[in-house]
Amino acid sequence: MTTTELQAGEQLEAIRQGVRELCKQFPDQYWREIDEQRAYPEDFVNALTKAGYLAALIPQQYGGAGLGVLEGAAILEEINRSGGNAAPCHAQMYIMGTLLRHGSEEQKQRYLPKIATGELRLQAFGVTEPNSGSDTTHLQTTAVRKGDRYLVNGQKVFISRVLQSDLLLLLARTTPVEQVKRRTDGLSVFLVDLRAARGHGLEVQPIRTMINHATNQLFFDDLEVPAENLIGEEGSGFKYILDGMNAERVLVASEAIGDGRWFVERAVKYSNSRVVFDRPIGQNQGVQFPIARAHMQVEAAELMRTRAAQLFDAGQPCGPEANMAKFLASEASWAAANACLDCHGGYGFTAEYDVERKFRETRLLITAPINNNLVLAYVGQHVLGMPRSY
Ligand SMILES: Cc1cc2nc3c(=O)[nH]c(=O)nc-3n(C[C@H](O)[C@H](O)[C@H](O)COP(=O)(O)OP(=O)(O)OC[C@H]3O[C@@H](n4cnc5c(N)ncnc54)[C@H](O)[C@@H]3O)c2cc1C
Repeated sequence: MTTTELQAGEQLEAIRQGVRELCKQFPDQYWREIDEQRAYPEDFVNALTKAGYLAALIPQQYGGAGLGVLEGAAILEEINRSGGNAAPCHAQMYIMGTLLRHGSEEQKQRYLPKIATGELRLQAFGVTEPNSGSDTTHLQTTAVRKGDRYLVNGQKVFISRVLQSDLLLLLARTTPVEQVKRRTDGLSVFLVDLRAARGHGLEVQPIRTMINHATNQLFFDDLEVPAENLIGEEGSGFKYILDGMNAERVLVASEAIGDGRWFVERAVKYSNSRVVFDRPIGQNQGVQFPIARAHMQVEAAELMRTRAAQLFDAGQPCGPEANMAKFLASEASWAAANACLDCHGGYGFTAEYDVERKFRETRLLITAPINNNLVLAYVGQHVLGMPRSY
């Protein structure tokens, strides 16, 4: 190991340790109550912002820490490993990349320093629509230029944290699909100021889900967005969004790995202490083996996640690794969740053990932000060279 590698390893460990310390202020009880109340964890998000962790990926010149996705991954992993849930604040890390890579210098100067301090929250990302689902290029929300503004019309669904965020990164069609060569052309990305938009062309309807996830349906009716809020070139938005997706996959994989470790740790602790038939239940292979198996799955997923993050940070192609990491990690955490729930018997279903909450939370990672079926389709087609299946 070189000195640089050693220093990088020590820095990563220091970040992990710092996040662990911060998370100790937000124990199980905190997350349980937030879940019961279906509330946004304001205090946790503020503490994380104040400590600079949410600005980890923002370059130092804009007030952030200038770290890589590997470090961002460690931060989110530790949050979930502590029993918390990084979902209420993870989006800022990967949405910000679109602004950073494709925004103008003026846009970066205007927004990034305020995002770094927490004065502005960029936590909302508007892609999914009721009529297109996973098929993003079929989205129907339009943005039509009228002088120095765009008029946005359409509908989005499952757009999270809109009520807790100041800014929304929105994907909309600026050129009708009949007028473009490829469906991926003619889509554009905008930074929407939610404070100005709500009630003036944007209606937000919260959706209750099985987890505490502040997600919403959005209705756009002639919402005016200043032309200066277009990111990059008009019509190139899909490419910009794709660029950020590998980071998103790696970060979501990290949350799943954190969950997986939490489930394994809790499962081991409970199985070693719970005595039935005069012996710890962990002595039974039927209890022990699923936990051992899930542990191996989590370890393997972590290797793939780390490889993907390192490639991303080195500026190298990492589509296969990032997708595989997301798939493997979400499947591993789901295996660990089931082993943990099973070994807790009836107590796994009670709120006070937190297993049922984490079980619900980690299940989302198989479905969103991209469904694992579509990861399989990607690997089949782009990694293995099989026919396009969708
Ligand atoms: C809690 C939550 C928060 C979310 N937050 C956001 C957000 O902030 N921003 C945002 O833009 N989106 C968000 N999403 C949306 C999420 O990314 C979508 O749910 C997801 O991309 C799939 O779209 P869909 O739900 O319409 O499913 P569909 O596309 O309708 O798919 C339904 C099922 O069919 C399968 N399927 C469809 N086509 C194929 C195929 N060709 N081959 C194999 N299987 C296929 C899918 O894998 C899935 O199992 C969120 C979702 C949830 C549940």
